[in-house]
Amino acid sequence: MNIRKLTTYALIASMAVSFLTGCKRDAEVTETSDTAPVPAVTTTAETTPETTEFKLYSADEYRNAGVNELNSVPILMYHRIYEMKNSETSYTGGNVDKDGYNRTSEAFEADLRSYYQQGYRMMRLTDYVDGNIDVPFGFSPLILTFDDGIRDAVLLGWNADGSPNFDPNCALGILEKIKKEYPDFNVTATFFVYDLLFENGEENDRKVMKWMVDNGYDIGNHTYSHVKLGDCDADEIEKQVGSMYKLLDDIIPGQYVNIIALPYGSPESISPDKPQYNKIFEGTYNGFSYTTKATLLCAWTRSYSPFVRDYNYTAIRRIRAYDNNGEDWDIQMNFEQLNNGKRYISDGDPNTIVFPASDNSSGDWLKNTYGHQVITY
Ligand SMILES: [Zn+2]
Repeated sequence: MNIRKLTTYALIASMAVSFLTGCKRDAEVTETSDTAPVPAVTTTAETTPETTEFKLYSADEYRNAGVNELNSVPILMYHRIYEMKNSETSYTGGNVDKDGYNRTSEAFEADLRSYYQQGYRMMRLTDYVDGNIDVPFGFSPLILTFDDGIRDAVLLGWNADGSPNFDPNCALGILEKIKKEYPDFNVTATFFVYDLLFENGEENDRKVMKWMVDNGYDIGNHTYSHVKLGDCDADEIEKQVGSMYKLLDDIIPGQYVNIIALPYGSPESISPDKPQYNKIFEGTYNGFSYTTKATLLCAWTRSYSPFVRDYNYTAIRRIRAYDNNGEDWDIQMNFEQLNNGKRYISDGDPNTIVFPASDNSSGDWLKNTYGHQVITY
């Protein structure tokens, strides 16, 4: 990491900002007086600020919006959505089972509306892993994941135009409804599959998966038979990971994401004395070679910004989407913490990383810039 502060450039940039294409708020920015706080633009050796166009706001505008791209991102872990009212379960809130892995359709729809109203906007998990976070100024990223297959895509039949007719109370049915209702929510989710149970029948599910990846959803790897990879030897890991990628490659070639949701969150860490774990990230099974760019743990809390030191692409955290009266890391507890100063708030430009200078006072909290422009205020 070789970051130089280019204070002079920051001043020039702030004065020249109205000439930058793509600046939506010229009026406010050009009103900045010489004495107003000016954000500092820092750059890495990989970036070329002279040619990179980016949006720059005043320090007050960043502060007023709470822009902080070193803060945390909620990655929700859902399993199955059941067509039920909360009053029909014997468990807390929208939980369908004791531990809250499965959720009622009533609760899931309410979750989505709540995230939207709190200023969260969805983004793809694969973009997060790539450090490409594109949500509007002042809004926060939100990522949805579903484990254990595409059984949340319950098919009633096919429409005349060839699109699937989903049960309106399955996850896909609700997501598609919310997509129409809130076009700016950017509805998307990643589904992690193992084996393929083909609950809609094999031919239908192959078509459903193709439709999903063509319509804003992603499909990733949950191992072939839902095993604890932490307990497997190298050959078994290659088989579990490689054969699942191969199956995805047969159905949706080149359109699946090379990300694994680790069943049971195992292994929790990639320790150097377990070289077999390297097979999770790179291997060849039956002549089919694969790479994995990230692995997800099971639960419990918000995930680090991909830009900070403690972000670990081999152990990405998730929030278990369940209810427990605001305790033990349920949805409410996690979002109360996020909304109380922990949430990533975007500056609207995926090519910049903006945060209060005090948040990186140690100098090493910002670690991965992905070649982006760094702006502090
Ligand atoms: Zn699972």
